[in-house]
Amino acid sequence: MISDSNSRVSRRKLLKSGAAALGGGAALLGGGAAAQGQQAPAIATGTQTGRTFRGLVRHDTTLDVQELRLLATDPRQVVIRSLAVAPCYTIVRGALGTNPTRRAEVPNHCGFGVVEAVGALVKRVQVGDRVVVAGTSQCGQCYQCLQGRPDFCQFTFFSGPQGSEPFPPFAEMRDGTKVYAQAGIGGMSEVMTAFEEYCVPVFTDLPSAELTLLGDQLASGFAAGHARIQFEAGSDVAVFGAGPVGLGAIQAGRVLGAGQVIAIDPIRYRREFALKMGATIAIDPVAEGDGIVERVRELCKGPNDRRFAGGSSWGRAGNAVMGRGADFVVEAAGFQSFPPKVEAQPDPTNVKTVLQAWDCARMGGHVMLMGFTLQPVPFPGASLALLGRTIHPGQQGGLHIMRDIPRYVKLIERGKLDARSMITKRYTLDQGREAIQDTADRTIITGVIEFS
Ligand SMILES: [Zn+2]
Ligand SMILES: [Zn+2]
Repeated sequence: MISDSNSRVSRRKLLKSGAAALGGGAALLGGGAAAQGQQAPAIATGTQTGRTFRGLVRHDTTLDVQELRLLATDPRQVVIRSLAVAPCYTIVRGALGTNPTRRAEVPNHCGFGVVEAVGALVKRVQVGDRVVVAGTSQCGQCYQCLQGRPDFCQFTFFSGPQGSEPFPPFAEMRDGTKVYAQAGIGGMSEVMTAFEEYCVPVFTDLPSAELTLLGDQLASGFAAGHARIQFEAGSDVAVFGAGPVGLGAIQAGRVLGAGQVIAIDPIRYRREFALKMGATIAIDPVAEGDGIVERVRELCKGPNDRRFAGGSSWGRAGNAVMGRGADFVVEAAGFQSFPPKVEAQPDPTNVKTVLQAWDCARMGGHVMLMGFTLQPVPFPGASLALLGRTIHPGQQGGLHIMRDIPRYVKLIERGKLDARSMITKRYTLDQGREAIQDTADRTIITGVIEFS
């Protein structure tokens, strides 16, 4: 967009600046640090080894804060002093479990902090940058990235010889036990060492507690609405699950101008919060029972049931769904890892919810499956073949971290995307276990651990 002040710039000047940009591009293509000048990152290799810091560690049968010592880093790794981290529901079962662990590990798979050292081969970030460490990498060079699918970057989806570890341990405990970062990322420690492929530098004055939400849940949920599928203005959107991911999708519905955003969640306070975040109606799936699909379909049928006047009747002929349904459906309920302290979900396995989400979409509509189920999901074959619904994988909502996270920063700065309201409670590192427990209990939307 050209602003008013820019519109006064002459065409000649624009062409000139365009030429300068091209020149810069050519210089970069030519390569060499000279072209980048002061852009060359400050390199500090080896100097961080042995550094001590504290971190929450799941080891043996427990989870507690340990004093850790940093091990040598890879030349492509970045040493980050953590500023804020939000535990994700995905990690609660592993973190709070009491079974003996295979290896000692700092939980979580995202974080936010300031770069304190970079390896010799790191190009993306510099010392002093504040960086979002995202749950998915974007290397830009692997087969998936080259197909335009960095949401499946092969750096994240490591495939190596059986038994091999994709990421080395990054620290050790006082007794010498090697400590890994969960998924190579971790986040719940004062220091992180992330491969640069996961790091997105952000240049903004926004608070760390808000920016850390862009590494995982909020960014993933918001991405569901535009990264892979695009919620169209005026369209009908239905979102199963109004947790931190589903609320991101609900906010996407609001920001992108959906005509209707239907939130579906059994937890009363989450339904009420969803209405504040952009849902136009919030439905309790427990109260609706098996009628939930018909309820959504009824809400989407339009102002009348006159087929030739833009409305549609609803009903079934054989196994073909004749009613309209939502244009876009996001399933962000997920399976229940722990019995919550608030209202439980109607189907803890999430199998039924996945099927309901799929069945709520209109013929030719789009369904994004973000929550997991660990069980097989039986789809009716004829409907699967005939109804033209496209199922999209919800791996980080299709997020392209390097493209999308800087955009979300701008949306937060402009007051379009609300990150602050998503934070229910703040914790210290020593309260890290409590933050994970509250996440498991579903008594909060998002908890943020702030590092002093
Ligand atoms: Zn997560
Ligand atoms: Zn890649």
